[in-house]
Amino acid sequence: MMINTESVLHGFTDLKNLDHLGPIVLNQAKGIYVYDQNGKKYLDANSGLWNSVVGFDHPRMIEAAKKQYEKFSGYHSFFGRIAEPAVDLADKLIEISPFNKGKVFFTNSGSEANDTTVKLLWFINRKKGLPNKRKIITRINSYHGVTAVSASMTGKPYNSEFGLPLDGFIHAACPHYWKNGHAGENEESFTKRMGEDLENIILREGADTIAGFFAEPVMGAGGVIPPSKGYFEVIQKILKKYDIPLIADEVICGFGRTGNLWGSQTYNIKPDILIASKCITSGFFPLGAVILGDRISNDLMEASYKAEEFPHGFTAGGHPVGCALALEAIDIIINEKMIENVQRLEPIFMGRLKKFEEFEFIGEARGIGLMGALEMVHDKKTKTPFDGSVSIGERVANQCIENGLICRPLGPSIVLCPPFITTDDEMGIIFETLDKTLKKVFSEVKSLG
Ligand SMILES: *Cc1c(COP(=O)(O)O)cnc(C)c1O
Repeated sequence: MMINTESVLHGFTDLKNLDHLGPIVLNQAKGIYVYDQNGKKYLDANSGLWNSVVGFDHPRMIEAAKKQYEKFSGYHSFFGRIAEPAVDLADKLIEISPFNKGKVFFTNSGSEANDTTVKLLWFINRKKGLPNKRKIITRINSYHGVTAVSASMTGKPYNSEFGLPLDGFIHAACPHYWKNGHAGENEESFTKRMGEDLENIILREGADTIAGFFAEPVMGAGGVIPPSKGYFEVIQKILKKYDIPLIADEVICGFGRTGNLWGSQTYNIKPDILIASKCITSGFFPLGAVILGDRISNDLMEASYKAEEFPHGFTAGGHPVGCALALEAIDIIINEKMIENVQRLEPIFMGRLKKFEEFEFIGEARGIGLMGALEMVHDKKTKTPFDGSVSIGERVANQCIENGLICRPLGPSIVLCPPFITTDDEMGIIFETLDKTLKKVFSEVKSLG
């Protein structure tokens, strides 16, 4: 039965293809499964959009929402007012952050958190008498969101459809060794070249014009790209040399995805600011947070004393229900040993993923923790991609859907990021379905010639 969603404008969707493929309208979820209107069941190996990691129906989350709605259903955090759960959540985030002290600013999304951080850096630098210190460096292939500023940070070609990036947003090289390494270049020299690329940008633009460098510990929506070996050591040395703040966009990596609470721990990153969202409420509420370390907090306070106020904020930022749900989700992730489960599953997950490299059309299987991608190529030796008309990623993802498995296409790759509560049996289902799907699609593709 084809369902009509004519009144909906679907984001990040191929709208001409939707006409004949049709949307999937979901109306129920249990554990790591979602159900569509026709009652078809899907194992969601993407945790919703990376975020629903404790299960769609975790009873403690539902109870926490009910309790908070009954007690205090909603409030803002302007003019020195704040809901109690927001205070508790700010304390909690500082406690579990890499910072001894600091401040937390609440938003409704990851995009808004990045956008806020850029404005905050601009505000601080202007009040310091450095109005030209406002350029932002990110990386090609990075994903930082969709608002005009965070889209300018995102290093994806589709942003040119909007005439973005805005001026002053610069994209450094992407540290994907398999794809971007030169012939004969080993990983160490590659990483060194990534450092030189960044330093050249800084020298070309002038260090005194750069407000910050933003990086995801592992690039997520760029196709699950862990950094090349030693990358963050090299990058951090350069940023330190030119006194440029490092902002870790932990929207995907934060709260356990890489096998540690923060991706920054996994890669020995010492950020000045940390951006959190997605898993922070395990998908139960829209919420983002800018977590400022001690040094930037002090700068911001000093700047704010010189201004009338800190003129920024979102009506629903620090929403009591969102904050209560975040406190509950963080407690579940930490105390129900979710991160231990990610660590336990990682070798199984990565092992089975890597095994697909035996397939003729799998160029690279990569990942860490419970985030992984399979990149498909037409010719493995030369790493030649499939012709765009084959739509290889969509083919695989659509066949997975047929087979009751949700995994997302990302260009020539497909992405897997199962929930933290995934069991061994469910992990088995994911890989058996994927194996069956890949064999079918690859034999079809082979017959295309
Ligand atoms: C998803 C994502 C964002 C944007 O978050 P939204 O809540 O969709 O605005 C920012 N950064 C990273 C790394 C993300 O994965």
